[in-house]
Amino acid sequence: MAHICKDGTRQITKNFNEKELYSKSLDAPKCHFLDDRVINGLQIIRDHFNTPIRVTSTMRTPLGNDLVDGANNSRHLPPNARAIDCQFIQNSNLYLQQFYDDFKCKGPLYRKLRANGINGIGIYKTFIHIDTRSTSQKSFWDDSAGKYGDVRVTNAYMAAIPETGLDSSACAFESEAIAEETDSDYGLTGALAPLDPRNYSGEDGIKSQEQGLTRLVIIGSALLVLGGFFIINSSRKKRNFGNIETPL
Ligand SMILES: [Zn+2]
Repeated sequence: MAHICKDGTRQITKNFNEKELYSKSLDAPKCHFLDDRVINGLQIIRDHFNTPIRVTSTMRTPLGNDLVDGANNSRHLPPNARAIDCQFIQNSNLYLQQFYDDFKCKGPLYRKLRANGINGIGIYKTFIHIDTRSTSQKSFWDDSAGKYGDVRVTNAYMAAIPETGLDSSACAFESEAIAEETDSDYGLTGALAPLDPRNYSGEDGIKSQEQGLTRLVIIGSALLVLGGFFIINSSRKKRNFGNIETPL
């Protein structure tokens, strides 16, 4: 366990310092523990893509976890916090696409993460979750609502993929059939995806995807305003028309 402190100045791995790994929860204690292997997993992702990564969540206090609607048994919780959420700072869609393509085929990055004790992996529209739960509890999920492909990575789907991985041509050929056999479907996709509870299978909670929800609320409000404008406008026209019709 690494001991991470708010005012710490240590460089913990090649690319991540103590400040970056400190809890984002507002009520976090001055120092907390974070599993060494999950920090190592983060560095493995950083090395694989060789691009800057922003850490968005490490240890979450119970309150911080409630605020994002995290699962009750979230691996972000103390005292043995063992989960990290992270996102790519540049070209996020490109790198998440590459992450997804590797993930669904149990490619080199997936295998390296697993070999280093990362037994929980989740992909979302804008970020990745990794954790070091035990091998017997291993879990994989895909809450990206189809943004990166038609195949939803679920535990049942992954159980049907050999641990040695599929090369990209075999994967392209077989993954859709395996997804179908294992009922690995997405919920609603596109703009309606945030409304569908089937799209939230992981442990990071609905509010961790609040960007999507916020966008939907903005679009909904804009439509309401526009709708109201048209109703007022058309009733005004009718009234004007009525005035012209009844001058006598
Ligand atoms: Zn997470």
